Order: sequence, then C-alpha cells, then structure tokens
Amino acid sequence: MSTHPLPPFPAPTTTPTGVRAGRSLSALICVVAVGAVTACAPSEGAVAPSPAAAVAPASPGAGASRGTMGAPGIGDPDFPSDGNGGYDVQHYDLRLSYDPASRKLAGSATIEAKAVQDLTSFDLDLHGLAVSRVTVDGGAAGFTRNKDELVIEPGRRISNGDRFAVAVDYSGVPEPMRDSANLGKYGFISTPDGAFVTCEPNGAKTWFPSNDHPSDKATYDFQITVPEGLTAIANGEMTGTPQTKAGKTTFVWREKHPMASYLATMTTGKFQVRTGTSDKGLPIYAAVADSFHGSLDQLFTETGKITDYWSTVFGPYPFSSTGGVIDDYAAGYALENQTKPIYGGFSPEPTIIAHELAHQWFGDSLSIGRWRDLWLNEGFATYAEWLWAEHAGQYTADSAFRRYYANAADPMWNYPPGTARASDLFGSAVYNRGAMTLHALRREIGDDKFFPLIREWTNAHRYGTVTTQEFIALAERVSGKNLKELFDAWLFQPRRPAPIT
Ligand SMILES: [Zn+2]
Repeated sequence: MSTHPLPPFPAPTTTPTGVRAGRSLSALICVVAVGAVTACAPSEGAVAPSPAAAVAPASPGAGASRGTMGAPGIGDPDFPSDGNGGYDVQHYDLRLSYDPASRKLAGSATIEAKAVQDLTSFDLDLHGLAVSRVTVDGGAAGFTRNKDELVIEPGRRISNGDRFAVAVDYSGVPEPMRDSANLGKYGFISTPDGAFVTCEPNGAKTWFPSNDHPSDKATYDFQITVPEGLTAIANGEMTGTPQTKAGKTTFVWREKHPMASYLATMTTGKFQVRTGTSDKGLPIYAAVADSFHGSLDQLFTETGKITDYWSTVFGPYPFSSTGGVIDDYAAGYALENQTKPIYGGFSPEPTIIAHELAHQWFGDSLSIGRWRDLWLNEGFATYAEWLWAEHAGQYTADSAFRRYYANAADPMWNYPPGTARASDLFGSAVYNRGAMTLHALRREIGDDKFFPLIREWTNAHRYGTVTTQEFIALAERVSGKNLKELFDAWLFQPRRPAPIT
C-alpha cells in the first residue's frame, strides 16, 4: 500500500523541494493521520516477543477454539474479529457477475479448506450481501449472520484434519468498508463503469465470503462476468480468451500461488490493455482506464523494467506475471494487489511503481501473520523506493535516511514502527522509520551482508508467513552480529535513536 505514507520527500518542514511533487496526489490522508499522532504507544518490550505475540496465530486457523465451534477471529490481537479459527483455506473458486448499472453483484464461492480442529460450526467473513444457500461437501448446511460473521453449521461434524468444501451463493449491492482512522473507504467500491477493488486490511469480505486475514493464504480461481465492452481484471493470469454471450463477457483468471485475501481483486470497467513480456521474459499485463490512456505505455514499460531489476536485488520474482492497473477512481492511494498493483486515480511515478512491485516480495509472497508487523511490508517497500531512486540516479538511500533523521520534531519518533497500531495502521513511522531501520541495519552489517540477507529472507519464507522476530534472527545469523539493540532502538522505542555511524 502506498497512500499518505508516501509523504513529500524530504520532509516538508526541513527542505521543501519538488522532488516528489507527484506525491501530493497520494498525500491527502497522510496529513490527517500524521497530525493525529499526539501520543505514543509505549514500547512493548522491544525485541522479545510481546505477550500478545504468544496469542498471535502461529498457523492458519489457529484462533482460540470454543469447543468444536470455530472461533470468530483468527487470533490477531489488534483485529480480534478478522479471519476465523478452526480451518485453513486451501483454495477459493469465485464465480461472480457484476452489473455496474444496478450495482448488483451475484456470487457463488466455493471454498476448499482443511479443518484444524473438530468442527460443528465455523465462520466465514462476509460484509452485507444476502446469502441464499450454503452447502458443505454438497449437502445443505445451516447458516446465520452475526454482523460480518457468516456462521455455518454443516450437516455433519467435520473432524480435525478433514478436507471439506463449503459453497456459498450470495448477491446484493456491495458496500465498501469505511474506516476514517485508516484508509477511509476500501473494499469493493463501485464506479460509474465498474468497480475499484482494493481490500487492505480486511475488505475482501465486501465481495466474497472468506477467511479475511493474511495469515490464511490460498490459491484462487476467478470467473467474472460483466456487460460486453467492459474488462474484468483479477490476479494471476487469464486462463483463456474472454467469452461473450448474450451481451455479457466472462473473464477467467487464476492465481496459482498462495495469496492473502486483501490482495485479491475483481476490478472492472472500461480499460485499455497492453500485454507482453519484460526483457527477462516475464509476462506483463497493464491496464488503464480510458482517461489514463496516455499512461499505458509508461506503466507497461516501467513495470517490466522495475520487476526485472527487483528480481536481481530481492531474489527471483515470486509469481508468474507482473502488471499494473490505473483506474479512474480517485482513491488517492495505490495497493499492491498480487501480480497487479492498482493505482487509484493517478498515473504513478516510477518510485511508486517501485514501491508496489517491491511488495510482490514483501507483503505478497512473504505475508505478515498479524497486522502490527506491517513494517515488514511497508518499511521494506519504502526502502525499495530509496533503492530505486539510488539506482535511477535521483538521490541515495543514505541521503534519504539523513534527511528524515535530521527532522527531530517528526512525530514518527514517538511511534515505534515495530508495533503498528490498529487505529493508525498506515502511520508514516511504519513506512519511513521502518525504511530507516533497514538502512541502519545496512550500515551496521555492510552491503556484502545486507543484500544476501534480503535474498535469503525472501527465499526462506517464499509464499509463507513471517514475523519481525524471524527477520531479526536471520539478520543476526547472516551477519554474525548481535543486533538486538539496533532493532530495539529503531523498531520498539518511542524516541529518536542515536545517530548511525
Ligand atoms: Zn506499501
């Protein structure tokens, strides 16, 4: 995600320049959010896992159990009702039909899962929409709604370890999530010609029933039907030519690599599309709303170039294609939707593309198991902006670090980025102080250890779930140094760390 966390650089209070004038498009929410940082959370015990860490999900579906009833939350201490316990989703098969004129969505979702406890009932997350039918392994199942929980009672008891398939038929007018403390509006957002779909952190439930938390990743098949003339864009690759019948066109997409629910999309509308391959042969899918037609070639070219470059810095690209989408909905932010970052109403400059594509490694392939570890996504993606600027000859990562560091009054010093807060998940400290943490580490251990560490990190945890503690442990192993003080000062203390040497 890049949003408010893409502040003007350098900090406006120190050196106003136009270096990142483009950022003003995405800086709107930031100003509000940063201004709201009036108090700091105390350090949570720094490098040692906090007590909350002990209850964080160690594996998908590990939320606290209530006997044989799957828990209504997966166990994230800061988002207690997000996700669900008792099962681990393997695959989503989503058949969706959307009509922009009536704003009606009709869906049939089949979710293949594995029980991690005995289950007489379990939950899916679903926001609004009317459920007409639920089956489990083909047999009718009972269901009730409780706010955003869809509680399902299968006709038979599911035993720990069983694989089962739950199918949900549903329809209605999707309503996006609204959270003024975070992004404002997110999830399924209808537009005049379709929908802009960006779901971080928990907006997948606005358009399909899911285990809506990044600690339960799964593969996806999408079959999306829209009025003829529109394009439906999802993750992964198209598995065939779109088929048109009776004035409607169906697009079929498959994401065969594990994906967090918030990275799934079914963005639809009038788009101009360019496909091809990068210099290294990776397929590219770029799409822009008609009003951004002048940006299509640049989006295509920069996306290929940057993906190829990151694969030399961060390790092999984790997915089967890369891409990007510019929609004409003025979200003021971008989101790293898996294989196809989406830019909400602006033509992104290369550093923003670099940020979103870095997330394909940090956030998408390697996912966090609890939202407070968000710096592992955003600190890395922000540092990637600095690395891209350095590569492109704009400015060095070291100069970016020093300019941020020089602003002693920056509120981010009060905010330990190692513990992102639910009430301000996308606070600037998570981004900028998170990136500074990586630069401080790079200076401490040197480039000859830092870059192999990053590649080892993406390789060891490819498609997996990661924690801050695991990163610290790997950094110590690769460098042979005790780094606890460094990480404690940069990630967990509510004050500006001592200068780096
Ligand atoms: Zn981001």
